Amino acid sequence: MRRPTDEAQRWIWHPFTQMREWERETPILIAHGSGATLTDTEGRVYLDGVSSLWVNLHGHRHPKIDRALVRQIGKIAHSTLLGLSHPAAVTLARRLLQLAPSGLARVFYSDNGSTAVEVAVKMAFGFWRHRGRPKKRKFITFADAYHGDTLGSVSLGGIELFHAFYQPLLFETLRVPAPTCYRCPIALTYPGCKMACLDAVEQTMRRHHREIAGLVIEPLIQAAAGMWVAPPGYLARIRALCSQYDILMIADEVATGFGRTGTMFACAQEAVTPDLMAVAKGLTGGYLPLAATFATQAIYDAFLGEYAEWKTFFHGHSYTGNPLGCVAALASLDIFEEERVLAKLQAKVALLRQLLAPWKRWRYVGDIRQIGLMVGIELVAEKKNKTPYPLAMDVGRAVCRAARSRGVLLRPLGNVIVLMPPLCISMAQIRHLVAVVGQSIQATVRRCAGPTKSF
Ligand code: PMP
Repeated sequence: MRRPTDEAQRWIWHPFTQMREWERETPILIAHGSGATLTDTEGRVYLDGVSSLWVNLHGHRHPKIDRALVRQIGKIAHSTLLGLSHPAAVTLARRLLQLAPSGLARVFYSDNGSTAVEVAVKMAFGFWRHRGRPKKRKFITFADAYHGDTLGSVSLGGIELFHAFYQPLLFETLRVPAPTCYRCPIALTYPGCKMACLDAVEQTMRRHHREIAGLVIEPLIQAAAGMWVAPPGYLARIRALCSQYDILMIADEVATGFGRTGTMFACAQEAVTPDLMAVAKGLTGGYLPLAATFATQAIYDAFLGEYAEWKTFFHGHSYTGNPLGCVAALASLDIFEEERVLAKLQAKVALLRQLLAPWKRWRYVGDIRQIGLMVGIELVAEKKNKTPYPLAMDVGRAVCRAARSRGVLLRPLGNVIVLMPPLCISMAQIRHLVAVVGQSIQATVRRCAGPTKSF
């Protein structure tokens, strides 16, 4: 009989995975989870250090979400939102809008982060066409941005390794520098720079605003780029510039939404209301694929008309607004309230910051970037000149392999070690996470600096 691990190497083509390596290594199969931990088919227990790819919030098998799903499955698993509705979708939309930045008035459901962003892009494009300004059809995007893997969201993205390959298939955008302060694109230092990188954004707007439909931004932190935290006030300045130049602001809160940055949404930290906002990942507490795009009343209104005016928003996926996803999301919002999740989070955020602070002195730690429970630790070969480890050396993944052997599951972004534990992580688990990651970094860089310089 085939062992489950053999089978795991036989049938699936895994995402973001070099399958040749996968076929060589012994895969881990997760059998079950509980709270912030995962258990594999061999009975080994791991801390879920990246929330099962940035989705889980309240832990695996939270009784409240489990119960809500069982109740819903006794009613119906799925019916469409094309021409029909259902109670969970309605209640969830109302509750999401009560939590979202004020001024957002409508919820359009879809099923993952990439589609939620693409919906926003199509809405922004449609808004200007219906308003009689069809020339406004371009988008401003940021260097190193990441908005998903479908071709529309790849067009908005700027991560060389993931996106450049598909260039011939993509639509063009107006790319502006990102506030990646540790590696400043204009070689200045914050706060002395007074955020001079915004000048390039304004220049692009001034020159092209008649052709620009929207600007797409990951608020407060460009996550997949390497956890780049924007300086305070940056987001609010972007909002002001968008308003000044009549450009729709699209906030991609797919990674940042639902408490990850310490507040329910990142935009709240700078009192910003975008014109469109995409959420996914944590929406269901990390249980099911559900996404949503929030729009202002003005955008919604632009699509109203008689049937034959063809202003309908012609977009909708089979599983849009799936009822199981909606009840999981409602239960997750209840947990935020009942367990005072955001209030309790502040001490966890502070502890993580405090435990990581001494690492700034480590020879091979170039930068530590944190907002809420989102952390990026950038490892460097040489600190003074910020010399990166060559990507081919694979330092990030070596650290994560070392952490895995010590019972912590992580996934790096190049030379950046990412920590993004579920919001439910305990103080003791935070200490354990940091201790293990510290040991794993130390062990790896020591080997890395050794005589063979290989792993
Ligand atoms: N936007 C951002 C900011 C993201 O971080 C991601 C996923 N990491 C996406 C969009 C895409 O979401 P999904 O993988 O659900 O399509």
